[in-house]
Amino acid sequence: MPQNSILQVSNLTKTYKSGESSLTVLRNVSFEVNRGASCAIVGPSGSGKTTLLGLCAGLDNPSEGSVMLNGIVLDKLSEDEKAKVRNQHVGFIFQNFNLLPTLTALENVMIPLELQNRSHPRKRAMELLEKVGLGDRVKHYPAQLSGGEQQRVSIARAFANEPAILFADEPTGNLDGETGATIESLILELNKTAGTTLIMVTHDLDLAKRTDRVITMKNGKVYTDSLRPLQTQ
Ligand code: ADP
Repeated sequence: MPQNSILQVSNLTKTYKSGESSLTVLRNVSFEVNRGASCAIVGPSGSGKTTLLGLCAGLDNPSEGSVMLNGIVLDKLSEDEKAKVRNQHVGFIFQNFNLLPTLTALENVMIPLELQNRSHPRKRAMELLEKVGLGDRVKHYPAQLSGGEQQRVSIARAFANEPAILFADEPTGNLDGETGATIESLILELNKTAGTTLIMVTHDLDLAKRTDRVITMKNGKVYTDSLRPLQTQ
């Protein structure tokens, strides 16, 4: 793996099997992402984007092929080992925010910090919530927050452990246009200032245009890759 590459996906194929039937949703997908880059994955619904993101993050196993994340080959790791890699190296932002409803904003952001035994988790979580503009909402529960505010909490949580790589799946998919635009700017700004690599599935072509690179998926394959010419150098 070249030194500046943080993610290397090689010949990934994924077939979902249920009973007699099987469905191949990714076919021989390969690409590399440079450390610190922002990369959008776009394409029609059902083209395999979410499946690809899950495989890159070690949330699911490929049928064939290999993923190397921050220098670690995921294929041979146990589920526990992969969870450890995710806790240490990866942040997630989901379309549905995925906050724990029984915890306050502050407690939600503290989870990854406590899992990693980081010192002063409360203080750090406070700072993160202030950074995303929610310093006055820290004791609110998710149900007491708007969609945009919930997504801000999930962004603060995703960046809490200073992950090397951040995976976002339709981060603005459940937000109105204006709120979505603010959230996009926040994610892209944190990607740049924190030096975190960003890999983001999105339908939002305006957002994709603001990333360094756009990979278009079609029928389970990489259809276009705006960085392809550079990769072959
Ligand atoms: P996209 O994110 O581009 O919409 P997905 O990766 O979510 O695409 O899905 C690709 C295809 O795989 C779809 O046809 C979907 O129904 C199917 N699929 C996704 N997850 C599963 C699963 N766990 N079991 C069976 N089929 C699945």
